[in-house]
Amino acid sequence: GHRSASSCSGVQERTLIAVKPDGVQRRLVGQIIQRFEQRGFKLVGLKMVQVSEDLLSQHYGQLRTKPFYPSLLHYMTSGPVVAMVWEGHNVVQTSRSMVGHTNPAEARAGTVRGDFSIHVSRNVVHASDSQEGAQREIQLWFQGKELLNWDCCDQSITCEV
Ligand code: UDP
Repeated sequence: GHRSASSCSGVQERTLIAVKPDGVQRRLVGQIIQRFEQRGFKLVGLKMVQVSEDLLSQHYGQLRTKPFYPSLLHYMTSGPVVAMVWEGHNVVQTSRSMVGHTNPAEARAGTVRGDFSIHVSRNVVHASDSQEGAQREIQLWFQGKELLNWDCCDQSITCEV
């Protein structure tokens, strides 16, 4: 079919979404994936990982001077994480609003954090906060060959081509 860089069938924005160890422990992985699928985004990478401190120190490098940083590292390495790359129109911004405010007390009902969490230190899910951040994080968490380019049968329906 016809392709152009700005259309829904061409190059698309991507973001890193990760179900954190509390989300995996609480068996929320399926519900979180379902929200992104039903919204209309396309899954292009998925893996379960025991995250290393080295990866986390790069991922959360900007937070290393924060008082909560040691406990954040402990939390994020306490069990498996399910890391995903989702693709689609405006996926970075839209997924941030689907995930909700960092502090669950301020996260609206209907968001992942607003529906499933009560404390900032156990907020279930990560979502990249900018397009540049998403590119950096995807490269950090995934190898190129782990990301699949595929045509989703409804992408010309869910997005204007
Ligand atoms: N965090 C925490 N205590 C805080 C602020 C943040 O434990 O007071 C943790 C929390 O897991 C959060 C992560 O650090 O998701 C990264 O913080 P950031 O401000 O980047 O928020 P996010 O982008 O995850 O919403």
